Amino acid sequence: ISGHRTLLGGYFLVVDCSQSCSDTEVFKSRSDPSMLRHLTSKITATGPITVAEYMREVLTNPVSGYYVKNDMLGADGDFITSPEISQIFGELIGVWCVSEWMAAGKPKALQLVELGPGRGSLTSDILRVFRQLQSALNGAAVSIHLVEVSPKLSQVQAECLTGERTQVCVSDKEAVYHTGTSHTGLPIAWYRRVEDIPKGFSIFLAHEFFDALPIHKFQRTDKGWREVMVDIDPEEPEKLRFVVFPAPTLASTTLIQADDKREHVEVCPEGGVIVQNLANRIVEDGGAALIADYGHDGTKMDTFRGFRGHKLHDVLLAPGTADLTADVDFSYLRRMAGGDVVCLGPITQRTFLKNMGIDTRLQVLLRNCHDASTRAQLIQSYDMLTNLEKMGQRFQFFSLLSRSRLKGRVPLPVAGFSELGLQ
Ligand code: SAH
Repeated sequence: ISGHRTLLGGYFLVVDCSQSCSDTEVFKSRSDPSMLRHLTSKITATGPITVAEYMREVLTNPVSGYYVKNDMLGADGDFITSPEISQIFGELIGVWCVSEWMAAGKPKALQLVELGPGRGSLTSDILRVFRQLQSALNGAAVSIHLVEVSPKLSQVQAECLTGERTQVCVSDKEAVYHTGTSHTGLPIAWYRRVEDIPKGFSIFLAHEFFDALPIHKFQRTDKGWREVMVDIDPEEPEKLRFVVFPAPTLASTTLIQADDKREHVEVCPEGGVIVQNLANRIVEDGGAALIADYGHDGTKMDTFRGFRGHKLHDVLLAPGTADLTADVDFSYLRRMAGGDVVCLGPITQRTFLKNMGIDTRLQVLLRNCHDASTRAQLIQSYDMLTNLEKMGQRFQFFSLLSRSRLKGRVPLPVAGFSELGLQ
């Protein structure tokens, strides 16, 4: 998989390849010791820091955070994601959005919200579907809302989605820090936080977003749960190491379920707060959320890891030069979403994409494509997304829906999840 997207026509689209996001300049900055210095002086001043604080600093520190400084996606970066692998992925999610909007009774306004849009490829593919399905969308006022902390990536997204039609607001105080108009003529706004998105019927999407949020790590000990912290190695002051904090911390006494049977637990309270926020909005204003990530249902233990140049990387080594990630605990998200919304899933990416009709879509694209290498690439990327040995099993889909969505004698099936029973 090259990571360079070639867009193909079919029943949704015919698009100029110059609009693809792959040409964007790749921003790189490697071997920057300032992050390590920043962390060691912090630890020297106040003692060991939580893994959550470590992750937050390394990834999103406003000056030298990994996400703030890099465009890390794609073949030349540290990892590649499904929307970057194939246009089909975003197209099927675009169909999901239209389907949920219809099932909600076709509200007059539709906010499409993406959390952590990376290079903007997912939203770009969805907008092509929206244009193709314009008559079905029936004149609904569609607006795009992107939540992104990285100024660098927001620039890449703006280039991908708006071309020249973009305006940067410089004030840090404004909730909206960037606005523009999409190639398809829709308004786009960028925010730093979910709380800043205007109220209204919304479809929320989060692809490989929750795994980047800071986790706390806990170890079961003879004395009860203890938090794992990051400290300076006393033997080598330039090196960091994990330590188990001897006394309980606020997190170790509040974040673990009393009946948890595991030896080691990771909890992402920031993810919990965001899911609560999405659930409240869905209850108040209507809408749905689709969360896709690698994850588990409350069973895995130690999943914290780093990626650099598509290879596993020691999480404590050269902080700021590698992506840090932890599997999403969907059982925790379900608990935090609460009982006022319905949660579907997690189901595997393979099941979701198959239910969404990926096989038919592949056939349509293959029928319209006569270039042998592009055909091979299409088949290879389909396999990458759906093969249970590749991304088909590890990636999971999870959805929050309004209770009213599933009321009535025969509620419309939820696309993608239709083979799955309700909770
Ligand atoms: N969804 C994209 C990118 C995944 S990488 C894809 O699948 O290709 C994670 C994205 O989330 C990046 O855009 C990163 O800058 C953003 N991000 C990470 N932490 C964030 C936070 N706390 N708030 C908002 N965005 C964040």
